[in-house]
Amino acid sequence: MAGSPRRKILLVEDDTALVRVLTTLLESAGYEVRAEASGSRALACASDVQPDLVILDLGLPDMSGYDVCRKLRQFLEPWTMPILVLTGHAAPSDQLRGFAHGADAYLTKPFDVPELLKTIALLLGEPEQEFSRLG
Ligand code: CA
Repeated sequence: MAGSPRRKILLVEDDTALVRVLTTLLESAGYEVRAEASGSRALACASDVQPDLVILDLGLPDMSGYDVCRKLRQFLEPWTMPILVLTGHAAPSDQLRGFAHGADAYLTKPFDVPELLKTIALLLGEPEQEFSRLG
């Protein structure tokens, strides 16, 4: 879309192979991606760049993704952005815990690419046709 700035996504993930895959995927879908591999760096980055959306892994080296989620919600209030948890933790109790800590969506690895892109588009309130153009 000419003239509209690209939406910024903060990707919080410590698996470098997955960061590469997701960055390529998201950039080709038209998003600007900033990746951080730890919770503390993610929190600093979030207050700095104010991303439009956060994709958050739960198993991070320095702190639990649940705590990152809660802190993003607490510290950045009233400014808020959607948080999409993307994790290998597939138990329903993990999912409930994620929502209780402020997540807006919860997807498990291995993830389905169309489902991920559609979830991001929905969270960002992007028009349906924008998504269908991605194929
Ligand atoms: Ca991890």
